[in-house]
Amino acid sequence: IKKIGVLTSGGDAPGMNAAIRSVVRTCAFHGIECIGIYRGYQGMIEGDFKEMGPRSVNNIINKGGTILKSARSKEFTTPEGRKKAFDNLTKVGVDALVVIGGDGSFTGAEIFNNEFGFPVMGIPGTIDNDIFGTSHTLGYDTALNTVIECIDKIRDTASSHNRLFFVEVMGRDAGHIALNAGIGAGAEEILIPEEDLGLDRLLESLQKSKASGKSSSIVVVAEGDKMGKNVFELKDYIESHLPEYDIRVSVLGHMQRGGAPSCFDRVLASRLGVKAVESILEGKSNFMVGILKDEVTLTPLEQAIKGHYPIDRELLRVSDIMST
Ligand code: ATP
Repeated sequence: IKKIGVLTSGGDAPGMNAAIRSVVRTCAFHGIECIGIYRGYQGMIEGDFKEMGPRSVNNIINKGGTILKSARSKEFTTPEGRKKAFDNLTKVGVDALVVIGGDGSFTGAEIFNNEFGFPVMGIPGTIDNDIFGTSHTLGYDTALNTVIECIDKIRDTASSHNRLFFVEVMGRDAGHIALNAGIGAGAEEILIPEEDLGLDRLLESLQKSKASGKSSSIVVVAEGDKMGKNVFELKDYIESHLPEYDIRVSVLGHMQRGGAPSCFDRVLASRLGVKAVESILEGKSNFMVGILKDEVTLTPLEQAIKGHYPIDRELLRVSDIMST
């Protein structure tokens, strides 16, 4: 291996820059070249490349987003698109690829590897923490901190007006953000896709909390349908059954994807970048680097794509006890 290409793909996440920096500097440390590929797979198809030396990644460890830009590429899902990408990489002598992204990006990487025997290594970058084989994806910890900061502010206004707030957070298929940020921010109830609380139990819980003397509450809701309702329909339903509640909805949205990465995400990105490059140099391919019990590990891409990192069900119990 003489030259490694690195790209970011799919949704951006804080810590992606720190991972790019780590890949670039690990390459330099081991005396091999590194090429940055702009706009994910689309840039690979268009040959949008840039040589990256260790000084090209100065002052980015603290920046959210990705300096290489991210994109979704329809063309890469076609054999013709992938052939163009392969030809471009070969032309400039890139002989291995590090893909920083989510499960869609890993699916693309695995197909690319199967078609051309091209060595690929994945680094999980997505705030949702929904990838099997790692307890933490890049950006997840930062997103948690962003969410609790927002909910703390919402709590100030909720308690001043005796209001119930439904706060919608990201996580269409995974409740990690909702569950952990919900506990961290002291939410009354947490609604996640993995667990159907049931409308009756939600009503009962809110009635109980009102009776116990709570005058304001926060309910954290993971995006997507909950019990067949979106967050606004949920508000209408609760208001029609518990007219004593004055409910407001706050959808946090894309702010959860931005901001300076937390220390945890920067350290994780640095560790995963080193492992990704060094694994390629050891001749490994078609794996995702991740972290499990604070150990950096390799998981076959195929498994990482198929599964989801499960939520910790004990956290549901902790949340229940905390809302007593
Ligand atoms: P996030 O979890 O943040 O959405 P992601 O990596 O899952 O990130 P996707 O948009 O699903 O984001 O995938 C990113 C890109 O990966 C796609 O635009 C496409 O180019 C490529 N890709 C996804 N699925 C495939 C596939 N089946 N075959 C080839 N390429 C794919």
